[in-house]
Amino acid sequence: MTGVICITGASAGIGHATAKRFCANGWRVVGVARRLDRLEALQKELGNAFYPAAFDVSDRDSVAAAFAALPPEFADIDVLVNSAGLGKGLDLAQEANLDDWDMMIQTNINGLLYCTRAVLPNMVARNHGFIVNLGSIAGEYNYKTGNVYGASKAFVKHFTQNLKADLLGTMVRVCCIEPGLTRTEFQQVRFDWNEAKSDAPYKGITPLAAEDISEAIWWVVNQPEHVTVTTVEIWPTHQANGTFSFDRQTSD
Ligand code: NAP
Repeated sequence: MTGVICITGASAGIGHATAKRFCANGWRVVGVARRLDRLEALQKELGNAFYPAAFDVSDRDSVAAAFAALPPEFADIDVLVNSAGLGKGLDLAQEANLDDWDMMIQTNINGLLYCTRAVLPNMVARNHGFIVNLGSIAGEYNYKTGNVYGASKAFVKHFTQNLKADLLGTMVRVCCIEPGLTRTEFQQVRFDWNEAKSDAPYKGITPLAAEDISEAIWWVVNQPEHVTVTTVEIWPTHQANGTFSFDRQTSD
């Protein structure tokens, strides 16, 4: 199967790897991100099957305008991968920066909603399509300082499930991909490109690679049309979720 796939977050990490995976297999790819230079570099590499669409997914008007302006050969989107997203800061809720919280909500939730809403009517009209959302294990399991990032990914998981309910009666499919620690630019963005802080999470372990996740997306999308894989959790072998914690009031 080939067609048109729109990938948000195509300038780095999982989205970038997914663009390459699908393009190499005959798909036409709309790559979305804010950094146009990165998208143009990818177009140089992948050729005319890649269309760079530079806009901010959290800007509602830009999203609507960009999807409306797609060239005809890229306009009928068969698959949307919502990979644009970020974690910002890693602070206790009582100390966190509200700007970080706003940015995560605007990107991970609002951006995903705007892009999804932009492509769904055409998918439903054609009775064909696939929405792949990037959730996270952080949307399944809580951890200290995960607060808004984890909550935004729980939103992605639940929204995906509710989409499934709304789309019953159509052949439009949905899936939430939930990676564990994956080596991308994610940690650099989280820690404002502080090298020591960004490298620390990978110390002494083998994290997932962006290609491990793009492979899962490829597998999900290429299932026969009567098969919907709704959730995929992917963990590094070197990672597990924690145990319960206690605030012990005595030491004996
Ligand atoms: P990444 O390497 O930092 O890539 C993030 C991508 O999102 C970049 O292409 C970035 O491009 C784009 N982006 C961010 N804000 C945007 C905006 N407002 N408008 C348009 N594009 C925007 O991170 P990644 O690891 O590939 O993350 C991809 C997804 O996987 C995210 O949703 C993340 O939450 C999720 N995830 C990651 C991990 C992990 O450990 N890496 C684990 C679980 C889930 P520009 O900066 O050029 O706009």
